[in-house]
Amino acid sequence: MAKQPMLKFVSVERDMPDKRDATVRKQDFDEIYAEFAKAKAEEQASRCSQCGVPYCQSHCPLHNNIPDWLNMTATGRLEEAYSISQATNTFPEICGRICPQDRLCEGNCVIEQSGHETVTIGAVEKYITDTAWDNGWVKPPSPTQERTESVGIIGAGPGGLAAADRLRRAGVQVTVYDSHDRAGGLLTYGIPGFKLEKDIVMRRNDQLAQGGVTFKQNCEVGKDISFAEIRDAHDAVVIATGVYKSRDLQGPGAGAGGIVKAIDYLTASNRLSFGDTVAEFESGELNAEGKKVVVIGGGDTAMDCVRTAIRQGAESVKCLYRRDRANMPGSQRETQNAEEEGVEFVWLSAPKGFAGDPVKGVMVQKMRLGQPDASGRQSPEVIEGADYVEDADLVIKALGFEPEDLPTLWDEPALEVTRWGTVKAQFTTGATELDGVYAVGDIVRGASLVVWAIKDGRDCADAILNSFGAATAVAAE
Ligand SMILES: Cc1cc2nc3c(=O)[nH]c(=O)nc-3n(C[C@H](O)[C@H](O)[C@H](O)COP(=O)(O)OP(=O)(O)OC[C@H]3O[C@@H](n4cnc5c(N)ncnc54)[C@H](O)[C@@H]3O)c2cc1C
Ligand code: SF4
Repeated sequence: MAKQPMLKFVSVERDMPDKRDATVRKQDFDEIYAEFAKAKAEEQASRCSQCGVPYCQSHCPLHNNIPDWLNMTATGRLEEAYSISQATNTFPEICGRICPQDRLCEGNCVIEQSGHETVTIGAVEKYITDTAWDNGWVKPPSPTQERTESVGIIGAGPGGLAAADRLRRAGVQVTVYDSHDRAGGLLTYGIPGFKLEKDIVMRRNDQLAQGGVTFKQNCEVGKDISFAEIRDAHDAVVIATGVYKSRDLQGPGAGAGGIVKAIDYLTASNRLSFGDTVAEFESGELNAEGKKVVVIGGGDTAMDCVRTAIRQGAESVKCLYRRDRANMPGSQRETQNAEEEGVEFVWLSAPKGFAGDPVKGVMVQKMRLGQPDASGRQSPEVIEGADYVEDADLVIKALGFEPEDLPTLWDEPALEVTRWGTVKAQFTTGATELDGVYAVGDIVRGASLVVWAIKDGRDCADAILNSFGAATAVAAE
């Protein structure tokens, strides 16, 4: 009887790729996890139980065929593994790196439910596609037939690029308009290199350009070109602009110098990684070196800020969050990474105001968790008489993002938005109430995840192809 290649979870323990030591990794902006060696990837993939009802797959927003690509990896059939993986995911190596797997695929792995640790799905997904890149299996769009229809995509983040890729592979003429000088959206200018190195994103951008996608960078819709002009120029338009309006802090001293927005801070740091000169970094405004840094917020953006500040050589880095560790929205894995790198978390603490201009301290109110609110989450309550001042000479606001007012900015009152300001669109197709206009990613969902933006982009591309009477089953080869 042939040897059983799978079900090794009973004899093989879960193992992640090696993580660089915190003392070394905090010196640079390179990714912190190494690549699996081939034998290790095969061994870890072989832990999959090939269960009949793969919850990992149903909890992956893209419904990736995880059991099959794990099986192919375990048996050394990597090109087939890649073929299956790319059939449902436009950027598998990116999701493998930055999806919060503990909340998605891995958090629902059947062997984890049965008391063994989950299969390392994300790390194997990354390994498969990195191997595919090394072997030249990842190909740019190369449509067998050109189509006459054109689509304008506003925003070159993962949502817009996933739509661009799928449309272009079907032969559609695609133009992407983006306000930044480089494509990638938050993959390029939000998420730091220690989670996602920049060349991983740039090679995707380059491939799309090679495959015939036209990029119009440094082009802000509503300023450099109007929304109406874009609608006139194309048969369909996809809005994929993300959410960038930073939630603000109130209280005395909130406008003082030295209090900056997370997105400005992270964009500056990412620009430096490309070798750009950033005036606000040179002036010290967006540079944490030698400073006492306080980051306010408990989500992934806050985690990225604290770890960036560590790498810039801050004297101390503290993260202030009004709830406790168990109730923070950021990934537990990233919190642990931050702690290892020297970040101090100050739980159950909220800013009440700021001392000094430029800022010298944060006036902190201590909190306790009270009764659950309507959503079931315990609400933080102030503990009277426990205020104190936390020293700070750089305060970074990482309280989340909201959508900009697109109907006003774009002079298109008929573009319907929800009461939160997100664009109203059908979840399955991205279709808005405006004829031929679709919307995907964060601008529809509110601040969300890369994998959801990719899913929206792909679904929307299929809906557009349908409306053109074109086939939607586009293979990447
Ligand atoms: C700091 C940070 C860390 C994150 N970490 C993770 C993570 O680890 N894992 C994860 O899954 N998700 C993470 N996210 C969330 C994730 O990045 C987003 O959900 C995802 O990028 C949304 O994709 P999108 O295509 O909708 O928009 P974006 O990536 O925001 O791209 C939108 C693009 O549209 C452009 N644009 C905006 N307005 C205009 C205009 N008027 N004209 C032309 N162009 C315009 C923008 O410049 C941008 O390039 C993080 C977010 C942040 C802020
Ligand atoms: S795309 Fe994300 S959720 Fe889906 S299998 Fe990959 S890492 Fe898991």
